[in-house]
Amino acid sequence: KENVLQPEAAIDEQGKQEESIRPQRFADYIGQKDLKDVLDIAIKAAKSRGEVLDHLLLYGPPGLGKTTMAMILASEMGVNYKITSAPALERPRDIVGLLVNLKPGDVLFIDEIHRLSRMTEEILYPAMEDYRLDITIGKGSSARIRSLPLAKFTLVGATTRVGALTSPLRDRFGLVQKLRFYEVDELSQIVLRSAQFLQTPVTEDGAIEIARRSRGTPRIANRLLKRVRDYAEVKSSGEITESIAAEALELFQVDPRGLDWTDRQMLNVIIEQFNGGPVGLETIAAATGEDTQTIEEVYEPYLMQIGYLSRTPRGRVATKAAYKHLDFKPPNNEQL
Ligand code: ATP
Repeated sequence: KENVLQPEAAIDEQGKQEESIRPQRFADYIGQKDLKDVLDIAIKAAKSRGEVLDHLLLYGPPGLGKTTMAMILASEMGVNYKITSAPALERPRDIVGLLVNLKPGDVLFIDEIHRLSRMTEEILYPAMEDYRLDITIGKGSSARIRSLPLAKFTLVGATTRVGALTSPLRDRFGLVQKLRFYEVDELSQIVLRSAQFLQTPVTEDGAIEIARRSRGTPRIANRLLKRVRDYAEVKSSGEITESIAAEALELFQVDPRGLDWTDRQMLNVIIEQFNGGPVGLETIAAATGEDTQTIEEVYEPYLMQIGYLSRTPRGRVATKAAYKHLDFKPPNNEQL
């Protein structure tokens, strides 16, 4: 029995740690200035009119703080939140159960909202628009629609693929906001803040070194911080300095720009086997063992952001900067 209980306890501890690192208020949410400015106004206006906040769609690569922002919105509005994700809402009764239990003003967060089933989506339309639940009772010619009023609520949808949303769904969000990658100084603030919660000593340069290798993503910054903390405790005094962070991340195969094995493999294939590209997505997926969706949603956005990859109509192309980073001699091609 004991070894059944222990892992659970460990997961629980980790879960708690995760939650203490997560910013709880607007003021603790670092970066994303445009997003915060827009939401600050929306919150103040809704509060002063005594209304609920407009439905909000957040999109952008994973780990940039969409869930965190939904939780903060609820706490700033003084309401409760429920978190779910589209794959958990397969059957109509899953979404109905959530909707009827919402209290006035509540925030309902649906992750991966581009993956909703058609039936679930259709239940959401009147719920979002008129706070109304339309349910069909009976079948065939005797079927009738009954409408039930719902509490006025705020739907926060999150997606990595805004283009995959149906337009009727997208149109029902009053606010549509993109999250962008974080700057190194923003990520280093996040690392410093998280290190305090983890009670890990870290120098400013140590935090910057972790930030530089975090692909512009807070979730990755927090994950790397934990790996570096382990390394610092085992290999030295426990303090995270620039050189300790660099050594540790070298060991975990995170390179100075934050690229991992898959990123480098993608660029290597394009450069070595295809002379810099263009290369089709399928080919890149096969060469790395990742599925095309992960390549498109997780890997490519960052490689494009740092200017190592460009998407052309004929396929993916590695840029001069990518050649340089991987120590290849760039070809004489003005287009790169
Ligand atoms: P997904 O889309 O995959 O759900 P996400 O974008 O919702 O990811 P979160 O779970 O909100 O990502 O954020 C990941 C972690 O990064 C959180 O645990 C939080 O601690 C941290 N984090 C995110 N954004 C910020 C921020 N702006 N300031 C400080 N920490 C942040």
